[in-house]
Amino acid sequence: MSNQLSDRINSLPISATLAMAAKARELKGQGKDIISLSLGEPDFNTPDFIKEAAVQAIHDNYSSYSPVDGYLDLKQAICAKFKRDNNLEYQPNQVVVSTGAKQSIANVAMVLLNPGDEVLLPAPYWVSYSAISILAEATYKEIPSTIETDFKITPEQLEAAITPKTKLIFFNSPNNPSGSIYSEEEYRALAKVLEKHPNIYILSDEIYEHISYGEPIFSFAAIESMYDRTITVNGVAKAFAMTGWRIGYIGAPTWIAKACNKMQGQITSGANSIAQRATIAALEAPVSKIQYMVDEFKNRRDMVLELLGAIEGFELNIPGGAFYVFPDISAFFGKEIKGHKIETASDFSMLLLEEANIATVTGEAFGAPNCIRISYAASEAQLREAVNRIKEALS
Ligand code: GLU
Repeated sequence: MSNQLSDRINSLPISATLAMAAKARELKGQGKDIISLSLGEPDFNTPDFIKEAAVQAIHDNYSSYSPVDGYLDLKQAICAKFKRDNNLEYQPNQVVVSTGAKQSIANVAMVLLNPGDEVLLPAPYWVSYSAISILAEATYKEIPSTIETDFKITPEQLEAAITPKTKLIFFNSPNNPSGSIYSEEEYRALAKVLEKHPNIYILSDEIYEHISYGEPIFSFAAIESMYDRTITVNGVAKAFAMTGWRIGYIGAPTWIAKACNKMQGQITSGANSIAQRATIAALEAPVSKIQYMVDEFKNRRDMVLELLGAIEGFELNIPGGAFYVFPDISAFFGKEIKGHKIETASDFSMLLLEEANIATVTGEAFGAPNCIRISYAASEAQLREAVNRIKEALS
């Protein structure tokens, strides 16, 4: 009966990150010794002080519906966080709390895009940006970049990609999957182009802001001329090891926040009440409380870069943040390895799954067909073992 499904769902691709994670889980369930480096998810536990706030919220009977856009004191904590970390002034009526940053992004796309509008996606980009744009009946255009420019686009490329139909552009720094970080100067140069096109809105996804290894993080909305048309998206999943708690949020112009509130009110209502209370504890804590995770990610990044860099055919950038490496593996295209013909990054990723029991995600899902994404949010021992197996599979 699948032909009875709507065109909407039929045209929607499956999330490649979640699909690979599911596949890895399934193979593990069959008893295979899979190392899953597919999902972008910290392998740490949520810090105790956050868990305790959640337990307290249960005892305090936070068990009924919250306001659709989030508890007022959480929105105030978010405003204080924007001020402290991003030098951004938002008022609570500019903030909407959602069930993960993914819902925040979907809300924004749904309230801003009309059929036929164009979305610009500097590539590589997170898999769901394109899918959510399709869901909103817009079309999307990739602005390609390669490892030579550290996977960043130039103002000239941006200018050339804009058409009268362009309505929204997604920025994501630190970037998933490349880990690249746009400097203030680079963002200002891109903003100069956007200043000439006042009908374009900017979604700045800053979910990885705290996972940065020394480079400063600059918020796009901190550019004065961009503030009124930028939606800043963030959440607690990555920095606080809270992926399953599902709390994301936006800071946006009031009229956009109001529309997102209306959209969410018809689809999910307010986000989980206990998770919202715990998020207050997370955001009010000094950032130094989570530095141990960032330090650990940095150690792993350095180790993985060194180990993978020693494998011939892996070309790597140095990711400034997030917890992924994104090697260009196009040197393997056209080769046959252990009976597998390697024509694409998907072929390569399948080779690693089948011959090395290592789950990665193909770069094609991120608009970068020469690369694969490897998450290093795994233990050092697992990462060492994974690289050994990769080496073996390729030998
Ligand atoms: N954002 C993470 C990733 O890219 C989690 C999975 C997802 O929602 O795509 O792996």
